[in-house]
Amino acid sequence: MTFEDLGLSPALLRALAETSYTTPTPIQEQAIPLILGGNDVLGGAQTGTGKTAAFGLPLLQRLAKETPPKGPRKPRALILVPTRELAVQVADNLKTYGRHLRMNVTTIFGGAGMQPQIDNLRRGVDVLIACPGRLIDHMDSGHAKLDAVEVLVLDEADRMLDMGFLPQMKRIMSRVPKTRQTLLFSATFEPRIKAMALEFMRDPKQVTV
Ligand code: AMP
Repeated sequence: MTFEDLGLSPALLRALAETSYTTPTPIQEQAIPLILGGNDVLGGAQTGTGKTAAFGLPLLQRLAKETPPKGPRKPRALILVPTRELAVQVADNLKTYGRHLRMNVTTIFGGAGMQPQIDNLRRGVDVLIACPGRLIDHMDSGHAKLDAVEVLVLDEADRMLDMGFLPQMKRIMSRVPKTRQTLLFSATFEPRIKAMALEFMRDPKQVTV
């Protein structure tokens, strides 16, 4: 199986070749076609399995297909993550995969100044990677607008629940259009994850590695 077999576009294939990714990992083989097909996907995968590319590649391909609206761009993809370290790591990966696409990737997390994040939001964002607490601050102040989000990713959802982010996640999800595609990644499918999938996803396809 190759990345080409999975249906990825030439711009992404070029970036992957330049990054020396030769073969998709099992989670990528399973998840990428389902996500490209527009499905909600519930992914059981830990860090180290290649889960970031599993959701990041098809997400970038979907956004790149559209002509972005004129003027400052509102986020069309929102990736919620538990920690600032993961936010930075996911952003670095997506910038690498999207290097031949015109895509603005920005991070939002606590413990850093508000103003640079506000400036980035004002300049326009295609993909927003955020920790829930600080994103709520930017929503409340009117700087982060989520009404154009088409793809929502909950990355390491089990860790976000462990950290007590459920109320914030619910508030954020209530602001994202219901017509979105939702992708949830978690190390386990414990009952509280299943409950989230039932409440926030539409007919999710399950993949596990
Ligand atoms: P992740 O599970 O997304 O944190 O990825 C773990 C590591 O594997 C990261 O350093 C990725 O850059 C790398 N990686 C992801 N997919 C592939 C692949 N198909 N081939 C080689 N390396 C990969």
